[in-house]
Amino acid sequence: MENLEKLLEYQKIDIELRKVLDEIERSDDSKKLEQARTEFNNAKATVTETEKAAENIVTFYNNALSFFEECVKRIDELSEKIKTTDDLEKQREFVAQLEKVREKLYDLEKRLSERNDKTDKVILAYLDGQERGKKMRNLFNTVKERLNKFKTEKEPQIKSLKAKLDAIKPSIPAAVLEQYAAITAEGKYPAFVEAIDAGKNHYRCFCGLELSQKATSELVDKGQCRCETCRRLVYKK
Ligand SMILES: [Zn+2]
Repeated sequence: MENLEKLLEYQKIDIELRKVLDEIERSDDSKKLEQARTEFNNAKATVTETEKAAENIVTFYNNALSFFEECVKRIDELSEKIKTTDDLEKQREFVAQLEKVREKLYDLEKRLSERNDKTDKVILAYLDGQERGKKMRNLFNTVKERLNKFKTEKEPQIKSLKAKLDAIKPSIPAAVLEQYAAITAEGKYPAFVEAIDAGKNHYRCFCGLELSQKATSELVDKGQCRCETCRRLVYKK
């Protein structure tokens, strides 16, 4: 296979690079950062939700207040009417109306006390959300700082490995590099593997499966083939 040595060298450096990048990705701090971000967003959502709930409560109280004022006005009016009329029938009618207004006020009082419990809960949830948000933001910043420091430490190594890869690239056919990129994009490392001789003209791939007859003849003729199962590029020295 053409430029096999270069190809394997490329792969070796690329795997080294992958390891460094994995180290960053899989570091505890990366996970913690993600967690802190999620929890911060949850806390933020709680604050937004409770703010909305608080707005509704304020609207409710304002409405209740106007309703209450209206009732008081109506009571005054009716009381005045009862006082100023001698007609017993009319008096009875006014008293009945007064009774209705009173019922409405009792009902309002009941709803207000129910609301009170809800209001306390909303305030507590709001404060809790704010507190959690603040904590998560602090944690997020601390972890991010640490992770950035770690990344900065790894940067020279990453740069040097990338430079090495760039230096080898021109000696590898573009089509082969494309194959390599496609296989490794699926997380399959190594992408280029040596055929395992299983004897009697049988070969196995890195993935453990035996190569088909078609793939085997290609391997023997051209020195390389694709594993039909995992799509790795299999070579024979
Ligand atoms: Zn395979």
